[in-house]
Amino acid sequence: MDYFDIAETWDRKTLEEVQVSRLKTSMAQAMKSPFYSRRLKEAGVTPDDIRSLDDLRRIPTTSKDDLRAQYPYGFIAVPKEELVRLHVSSGTTGVPTAVYHTREDLASWADLMARCMYMVGLRPGDVFQNIAGYGLFTGGLGIHNGAERLGCLTIPAGTGNTKRQIKIMRDFQTTAVHIIPSYALYLAGAIEEEGEDPRTLPLRIALVGAEPHTDASRRRIEELFDLKAYNSYGLSEMNGPGVAFECVYQNGLHVWEDAYIAEILDPDTQEPVPEGETGELVMTTLCRRGMPLLRYRTRDLTRFLPGPCPCGRQHRRLDRILGRTDDMMILKGVNIYPMQIERILMSFPEVGDNYLITLDRKDNVDNMTVKVEVRPEHFVEDMRALHALQRNITRRLRDEILVTPIVELVESNSLPKSEGKAKRVMDNRELH
Ligand code: AMP
Ligand code: ZN
Repeated sequence: MDYFDIAETWDRKTLEEVQVSRLKTSMAQAMKSPFYSRRLKEAGVTPDDIRSLDDLRRIPTTSKDDLRAQYPYGFIAVPKEELVRLHVSSGTTGVPTAVYHTREDLASWADLMARCMYMVGLRPGDVFQNIAGYGLFTGGLGIHNGAERLGCLTIPAGTGNTKRQIKIMRDFQTTAVHIIPSYALYLAGAIEEEGEDPRTLPLRIALVGAEPHTDASRRRIEELFDLKAYNSYGLSEMNGPGVAFECVYQNGLHVWEDAYIAEILDPDTQEPVPEGETGELVMTTLCRRGMPLLRYRTRDLTRFLPGPCPCGRQHRRLDRILGRTDDMMILKGVNIYPMQIERILMSFPEVGDNYLITLDRKDNVDNMTVKVEVRPEHFVEDMRALHALQRNITRRLRDEILVTPIVELVESNSLPKSEGKAKRVMDNRELH
C-alpha cells in the first residue's frame, strides 16, 4: 500500500490498542478544562477506569448544547497562551460554537488532511485550487494547510467570483480542487456559458464535502468535469475536514481511527446500534490537546460499512452522511429527509442542478412544494412534455416520501444560488 502515514498500515489490533492508550491520555488532558473536570467527576470516571474500548461507554456524551453553554472558553484544556487558532462552526444550525487549537494540534490536523489527499492520488506537483471560505469555516485553512503539508502548489482561491475561479483554473492549469458539491455543479454550467467544455480543463481530482450530497450528484460532477470526486467529511468540533475520507475505491469514508474514536449510537437511547445499522455518529478526539472532546454527538446520521476495503487500510468506513438528526422534516406525520428528494430529482436527466423544498402550513394542513430547475434544452415550448415531466417527478417523489408534493418546474438559474452551503429547505411552518 502506498501511504502517507504509517498509521494507515496498522491492523485492527494495533489500532484498538492505540485507541485505548490515547483515550486515557485524551481524557486526562480533557480533565484540565473546567467543563470536563466537573463532568467526569460527576460521572465518577477517571482515565484509570479505561481498560478496553468497552469502557468508553462509562464516559458521558457531550452535546452541542454543552459547547454552547460553555461558550467561549469552558472547554479549553491548556493555558490560553498555548492556543494559536480558533474556528467556529458555520452555524447552519443556530448559535456558533468555538474550537481552539495549539500549534501541535494544527500540525496533526495538517498531517491528517495531507493523508486524505495523498490517499486519493494528490502529489507534489499538483496545482490545488481551494475553493472554500478562508474565514472561520474550517474548509479553507484546514484543507489549505493539508495541501501545503503534502507539497501541492496551493491556491487559496476562496469562494465566489466564478469568473475569476475559472480564470485561475485556466491560467495555472489547476489539476485538483476542493469544492462544495452544489457549487461544483453550478461552476460547470458557468464554464459552459463561457463557451468552454469543463472536460477540457486539466482537472483530475475534486475533493467534495461539507454538505450532504448523493452519489448521483458526485457522478454528475465527475462526468461534467471528467475527473474523480472524493467525499470529504468533517466538522469543526473535530477540527474540520480530515476526519473521514474516501479512498480511491469510493466505497465509504475511512475514519482515521488512530486520531478519533467513532461510535454509532441510537440518538434516542444513546446505546450503540447493531453493527451496520444507521444511527448518530459520536466522535472522540484522541490527539487534540487544546480542546479535547469526548463522545461528541455530531447529529450526523450514518452507519459503518461492513467488510474489508480493497485498499488494505483497516480503518473502518462510514457510509455517506444520510442526514442529520435535526434536518428530518415531518410532513403529515411522515418523516422525510431532503436527501431522499435530491436522489429522485437527480435521477431525471432533464433536471438541472438547483432545487428548493418549501414547507408551508395552510388551514392546519402542511404542504411541500418542490421547485425544480429544468435544464434549458428541456425547458421548451412543448407544454405537454413539461406536464408529463412534472407528473412523473411528482409520482416518483410520492412513491419515495409517501406524501404528494406540489412540483413546480422553473427555468434554469431562476432559484436563489448560494456560493456557500446550499440552503435546500425552507420551512415556513413555524411562522404561522
Ligand atoms: P461545520 O462544522 O460547520 O463545518 O459543519 C459540519 C457539518 O457539515 C457536519 O456535521 C455535516 O452535517 C456536514 N458535512 C460535512 N461534510 C459532509 C459530507 N461530506 N457529507 C455530508 N455532510 C457533511
Ligand atoms: Zn479503502
